[in-house]
Amino acid sequence: MIRFVRSLCFLAAFVFAASAAFGQDKPFHVLAFYTMHGEQDHVDFAVQAIPFFKEMADRDHFDFKATSNWDDMNSSVLKQYQVVLWLDDAPSTAMQRVAFQDYMEHGGAWLGFHIAGYMDSRETWPWYADFLGTVFYGNSWPPLPARLKIDDPTHPAMKGLPPTLMSPANEWYSWSPDLRKNPDIKVLMTLDPSNYPIGFKDTLSGGDIPVTWTNTKYKMIYTNMGHGNKILTSPDQNRFFENALLWLGGRNK
Ligand code: ZN
Repeated sequence: MIRFVRSLCFLAAFVFAASAAFGQDKPFHVLAFYTMHGEQDHVDFAVQAIPFFKEMADRDHFDFKATSNWDDMNSSVLKQYQVVLWLDDAPSTAMQRVAFQDYMEHGGAWLGFHIAGYMDSRETWPWYADFLGTVFYGNSWPPLPARLKIDDPTHPAMKGLPPTLMSPANEWYSWSPDLRKNPDIKVLMTLDPSNYPIGFKDTLSGGDIPVTWTNTKYKMIYTNMGHGNKILTSPDQNRFFENALLWLGGRNK
């Protein structure tokens, strides 16, 4: 009898281990790119985001690494990772840009924060303007909290979020052309109209301003949060960051 119970225990342990390895906890590899030489408020976010995502990686059983060497944006490095993050910068050389385009066009996944949406004009990098679906137009200043409206509660990245949430102090961007008119773009979060006007030195006075979206031609999410040291203080917003990364990593389908 004891032998029978032991073998049952062994079987249960095996089934548990196998379901962890092959089920919901399928491992994936994430590489976050950052710089320590950008605008201080953007660096502050990156410096907090790295341990934040490391903790998440332990909890959710994925592999997380961060690099400040943007030349790691090459095919031999990128092929080791299922998801790439840009925390506070974007590629600056032609080689880095071509490698990123190739990665995204062949099944790579990307989560871009705040400054990743900043580009003076579409001519700077036309492929990226199409990938993002729009170009930076204006901003609010100083950084202020804002209420965000969830546009698509059925999207896996929005799972468990309330219909609106208070997002901690951030510099908010506006966009042109209109993301809603782009058939490839699915908007996930928008600045709630109750925020307007937002900003004092630079004001966003109204309109329809998306803050988080996905281009459905790729496995990607852009989110405008990422300015300053308060971004990671909202449990609801942190849940979105976690949902988004797990979805990009192939879980939460
Ligand atoms: Zn900023």
